Amino acid sequence: MNQGLERRMDQTDASTEVRARSVLVIEDDAQIRRAVRNALRDITDRLLEAATGSDGIDVAAAEHPELVVLDLGLPDMAGVDVCREIRGWATMPIVVLSARHAEAEKVLLLNAGADDYVTKPFSILEFAARVQAQLRRARTPGAPIGAVLDTQDGLTIDFARRVVTRNNDVVRLTPLEWEILRALAREPGRTLTHRQIFDAVWGRAFGNPQQYLRVHLTNLRRKIELDSSRPQLIITEPGVGYRFEAPHR
Ligand code: CA
Repeated sequence: MNQGLERRMDQTDASTEVRARSVLVIEDDAQIRRAVRNALRDITDRLLEAATGSDGIDVAAAEHPELVVLDLGLPDMAGVDVCREIRGWATMPIVVLSARHAEAEKVLLLNAGADDYVTKPFSILEFAARVQAQLRRARTPGAPIGAVLDTQDGLTIDFARRVVTRNNDVVRLTPLEWEILRALAREPGRTLTHRQIFDAVWGRAFGNPQQYLRVHLTNLRRKIELDSSRPQLIITEPGVGYRFEAPHR
């Protein structure tokens, strides 16, 4: 877990605590369902469970859970198909449970509309924090275009005026750096794949997104991070993409 997340969790109090009305867990492994139950017990009113992909789709359609936790290794369907099916008619956050070293699969899932993933085995605290970040994000839709985003370490992003400041000093970004920052910061807490960022910034162009992004990300971090060798705002998800860390509201 990175420092930024820990710092924010320390500061969490009753007013920033987010509770889910209902969460659906689609997972065939009873032991992992139990771990998810433990992690979410204190932040969920109702926990629904399904042991197969097709059951999961049925329960999601019937119960409209506020968030779905989706395991990739299901007996009857590929996780990515379950994700696409649910995404066809619902917008609730989908958090994927995946094995370590399954980068290609994570990319596929995020591109299919999943919002985040947690690698097994997961820590209960981190998993609960990731779920809460998604609930928070889903409840402030369309954030924060036209608004101002303040990070905990003193960076201010004014989306309407396209101005970034740190402690009132203007941070000068190139147009590409601004577009990358905007794509990430408009959805704090969400991991975007290289392809998703690339498409948002360059618009469905051909090329190797990972390579293009690496150069610009390095420059962008040098300008906006307090210590660009230990980024706290734009987090790298190795082999997958990048995530802007959500400030607490
Ligand atoms: Ca499984």
